[in-house]
Amino acid sequence: MVERAGSKDRNKRMTPRGRESSDVLSREPALTNRQAAEIKKPFTKKSIALVYDFDGTLSPKPMQEYAFLPKLGITAKDFWAECTALARAERADPLITYMHLMYKKAKEKGVRIDRADLVAQGRDVEFYPGVEQWFGEIEAYVASKIQADGVIIKHYLVSSGLTEIVEGTSIYKNFANVFASEYWFDAYDLPFPKRVITDTGKTQYLFRINKGLEDYNDSINAHMPEELRPIPFSNMIYFGDGETDVPSMALLKKNGGAAIAVHAPDGSAEKCVELFNAGRCDFYASADYRPGSDLYRRTTLLLDRMIADIRIKEEGAGLG
Ligand SMILES: [Mg+2]
Repeated sequence: MVERAGSKDRNKRMTPRGRESSDVLSREPALTNRQAAEIKKPFTKKSIALVYDFDGTLSPKPMQEYAFLPKLGITAKDFWAECTALARAERADPLITYMHLMYKKAKEKGVRIDRADLVAQGRDVEFYPGVEQWFGEIEAYVASKIQADGVIIKHYLVSSGLTEIVEGTSIYKNFANVFASEYWFDAYDLPFPKRVITDTGKTQYLFRINKGLEDYNDSINAHMPEELRPIPFSNMIYFGDGETDVPSMALLKKNGGAAIAVHAPDGSAEKCVELFNAGRCDFYASADYRPGSDLYRRTTLLLDRMIADIRIKEEGAGLG
């Protein structure tokens, strides 16, 4: 796991405040504009966040289909159909329903799956071409640009899937933070949902990244002025594959950020076209993460724009 982000940025912006107040109290002669600019707060909003959905965006199938469902001897089609029918009949949240049903089925079949087993299942998750190299490639691209000096790329995952399975995947180490649904083991007879990340709930985590409040225990609702938020929405790109990503894409698009929709390389682009035509995303592309692909090219185009914007703001911050 890469460092839990946020605390560094918070510390940075706290320092200049004390300096400003002591300047007011000091009896030194007034500063020239140049001197004032020199001691001005350094421009800190140089992090760019790439935020990914998991199922259908990084991996072709929902993560539960690689090991959990086969272990129970249930086909994915039957399992999801039962979830949908049950959630509708009971007017229950579909995500809570799937989390409950997975363990109810396991119990019925006498299959014990604990936390360590779920983490181990992460090893079976497959990815679209190039995903495992993508994080390094993007970081190398940014590092190669002179204009991007000091720009930090952070990858985040926001998923309705399971934290435990994600932890076991080969790509887990690349994320600055992972926000996903999670079980509470040994709380009750069956593991109980500890956290459920719904489609609209995903937007909470975009605000957490934006405000630097990435600890689940940090209260997210208090007002924070824009200038104190470490990663502006305009420094974020969201990657998703469908309807469940609409709230996140809409939030970023309305606040100057960017979104890219992906579709399976061998699948239909219909949903992506729909999202694009509705103004939900800047681009769509086949989920091919290899350098030179449309997805790589369009992502780096957006990065070029963000890097230029950061440089312009940084240049301006030193004036006046
Ligand atoms: Mg998805």
